[in-house]
Amino acid sequence: MAELLKLENVSCRAGDRKILDGVSFTIREGEIFGLLGPNGAGKSTTMKIVAGLLEQSAGAIYMGEENLWLGSHVRRQIAMVPQEPAVLHDLTVRENLDYFASQIGAPEGKVAEAIMQLELDRYAERPAKFLSGGYRQLLNIAIGLLQSPRILFLDEPSVGLDPVTRSRLWDKVLEIRQKGTSICISTHYMEEAQALCDRVCLMNDGRVVALDTPENLIKAFAKAQLTIFTLKQEPETETIELLRKKIPDAEAGVSGTNVILRFSQKNPEAVEKARTIFLLADTEVLKIRNREADLEQVFINLTGKELKGN
Ligand code: ADP
Ligand code: MG
Repeated sequence: MAELLKLENVSCRAGDRKILDGVSFTIREGEIFGLLGPNGAGKSTTMKIVAGLLEQSAGAIYMGEENLWLGSHVRRQIAMVPQEPAVLHDLTVRENLDYFASQIGAPEGKVAEAIMQLELDRYAERPAKFLSGGYRQLLNIAIGLLQSPRILFLDEPSVGLDPVTRSRLWDKVLEIRQKGTSICISTHYMEEAQALCDRVCLMNDGRVVALDTPENLIKAFAKAQLTIFTLKQEPETETIELLRKKIPDAEAGVSGTNVILRFSQKNPEAVEKARTIFLLADTEVLKIRNREADLEQVFINLTGKELKGN
C-alpha cells in the first residue's frame, strides 16, 4: 500500500512541558490506522497538529511528497472530526450540513450524499440538540466528509456511546474506508482498535510505544498469562521481593497500587500463592483480574499502565 501521510519526529511543547516527544508514523493509503492510548497519551494533540489546528515545535508532516506547513492547501485533503463536536445545536441536521458545506465551498449534492452515506435521512429535519449521542457523532462525521477528504481523522468517536450504537458507528467507519477514504481513529478502547484497525500505534506519555497490526503486536508483546492484583495500598518492597522469590517464573511489576504478574506459560496456582503472600503481609487485595492475550495486555506489558486507568 502506498504511503499517504507521514509524521517525522513531531514534538509539541506547552510551556516547558513536552506533550509530544518525537512522534513518527506513516499512514498508508486505504487503511484504518489506530492511535491507541490512555487519556493524556497525546492522541488529540497529534490529530490537532495534523489538522493544522496546532503547530508542532519540531518535526515535519508529509502528505505524499508535500511538506504540510500551516495553511498548506493540501490540508484540505485531511478532515478532522474533533472530540468536542462543532455542530450548531439549534440548526437541524440538514441546516448544519448546508452551513458547513457553504463554509468550505463543497460542490452541489455533497450534503445529500453525506446524509445518505451516514443514513441520517430520518433525522435530517431534526435540530442537532435533539439527536442522540450516536447520531450527533454520525452528523460530525458527515460534516467531515463534506470536504471529500483523502484521509479522515476521528478523535475518540465512540466515547459515551452504548455498545449497539458503537457497533453501528464501526460499520459506518468500515463503509467509509470501503469507499476509498483512509481513516485514522483514536481510542482508548482496545476492543475498538482490535475490531477496526489494520494497524495500531500504541501511544503513552507523548511517545509511540509500538506500531504494528493487532495480531503482530499480540504475538510480540502479550504473555500467556497476565494477572493484575489491585491492592488497597501500595505494596511494601519486601512483599514484592517475596513474590519474586516464591513465584520465580513470574515477572512481577508494580504500578501504583497494582501488582502485575506476567507468565510465559499459564500458571493458575501462582495466583493462590500470591494471594497468600499478600494476606501474610497484611496487604488487602481489592481485585484480581486475569487478562487474555489482547491489545490491553500488550499495552500493560509495554508500559506497566492500563489503558483505562482504574
Ligand atoms: P489524549 O487525547 O491522548 O487524551 P491529549 O493530546 O489531549 O491526550 O493531551 C496530552 C497531554 O498534554 C495531557 O497530559 C494534557 O493534559 C496535555 N495538554 C494538552 N493540551 C495542552 C495545553 N494546551 N497546555 C498544556 N497541556 C496540555
Ligand atoms: Mg483526546
